[in-house]
Amino acid sequence: MRIAVLALQGAFIEHEAMLHRLGVETLQIRQKSDLENSYDGLILPGGESTVQGKLLRELGLFEPLKEQIAGGLPVLATCAGTILLASDIEGQDTTYFKTIPMTVRRNAYGRQLGSFRTTEYVQGIGEIPLTFIRAPYIAHVDDSVDVICTVDDHIVGVQYGNQIAVSFHPELDQDDRIHKHFLELCCARV
Ligand code: GLN
Repeated sequence: MRIAVLALQGAFIEHEAMLHRLGVETLQIRQKSDLENSYDGLILPGGESTVQGKLLRELGLFEPLKEQIAGGLPVLATCAGTILLASDIEGQDTTYFKTIPMTVRRNAYGRQLGSFRTTEYVQGIGEIPLTFIRAPYIAHVDDSVDVICTVDDHIVGVQYGNQIAVSFHPELDQDDRIHKHFLELCCARV
């Protein structure tokens, strides 16, 4: 089992560390030639979605990755990664992979005071700690999207086929159950 981690910008090292703790091999995706390797799943880390989106296009990674995700490659997207997967982003025309029919609201908790921790139930996983950093929330989902976590009536986690997208940062907590759940999806596909 090998998991690709988009390593252009943001919190990718923390995801790699979590996967290594779980005994899983990782591969950094930094340039087009990295896509020639085989991998069983992809992590889209938090960071700044506008920067990540721009780099994805400039480096020629955008189209091939979009094709792989749309083709069923299991994906775990956190925070900015969730924004990359959304079909719609409130207040902006630029969108990215658009592989999950949902509308996200960027910096939904405010820019400066928008970082907080809480504990909430995630469907199929149980109660886990959640860390939010200038996070988006999901303002609307299509009926075909499974909502797996809400905080104060706002959607912060969804699953759509093999794509798991969350507003928070499971890679920053000790609890590894989100990553384990993702690895199960990857195993099922292998
Ligand atoms: N605010 C960032 C964005 O809109 C996301 C923040 C994060 O990934 N921690 O891209």
